[in-house]
Amino acid sequence: MIVFVGAGPGASDLITVRGQKFLKEADIIVYAGSLVNPALLDVKKEGCEVYNSARMTLGEVLEVLVDGAAAGKKVVRLHTGDPCLYGAVKEQMDALAEKGVPYEVCPGVSSFCGAAAALEAEYTLPGVSQSVVITRMAGRTPVPEGESIRSFAAHGATMVIFLSTGMLPALQEELMAGGYDGDTPAAVVYKATWPEENVCRCTVETLAETAEEEGIIKTALIVVGRVLDGSYEHSKLYDPAFGTEFRKAAAGGQEHE
Ligand code: SAH
Repeated sequence: MIVFVGAGPGASDLITVRGQKFLKEADIIVYAGSLVNPALLDVKKEGCEVYNSARMTLGEVLEVLVDGAAAGKKVVRLHTGDPCLYGAVKEQMDALAEKGVPYEVCPGVSSFCGAAAALEAEYTLPGVSQSVVITRMAGRTPVPEGESIRSFAAHGATMVIFLSTGMLPALQEELMAGGYDGDTPAAVVYKATWPEENVCRCTVETLAETAEEEGIIKTALIVVGRVLDGSYEHSKLYDPAFGTEFRKAAAGGQEHE
């Protein structure tokens, strides 16, 4: 059996209970060495074979997965954060499906959640933003035309930008061209939840200089939006006048689904 496991954002105890169980039982682990904390592998059993996919091609990774499964071994493919974001997992799953090799997926805590925890932020504040745009600048992987930073910035929603730390001058230009004021709160969050985590609060127009001052060139998320500011409306959820299926509203209050 092959399981794609989300390793979480970095800290070795931020993998799910289920994911760690798969790691403990694995005969073979193929981990994304560029971003997965190797301390996660401490729980592996004796004799477990470990491969670092950062040094392998897709073909080589697939060979290890397929041969392992064919030999009846328990195989874990360990991806950073949650596998569903920028993980290049679909091409692996499709190749396995084509060969008739079964697999399953175990989710993980994405780094955008790790960054929110580090910032002590809520990405969805009433009266400020109720949406989170997860995106990236185009790099070697192109971004479809309708998904430019500029077009998303026009919504004024919270944005979490992956894989773009090396392009901050262009990123801040795009954010401002789209409509964010230069003084909109922003942050560069380096290695969220790792021991070397560095949370740098700044504004949209100081993103590039902040990262430069801190020497951050990769493994960071850029968070943008007024939710990083202080002001918002209180949620209706705990409002005494607002009922839910679990709590009756005060007289005259409204019900909530
Ligand atoms: N699947 C992963 C993302 C992989 S793409 C997830 O769900 O988090 C790799 C990019 O994710 C990095 O370039 C960086 O932008 C971001 N990233 C991954 N781990 C991070 C962390 N601990 N702190 C900040 N950014 C991180």
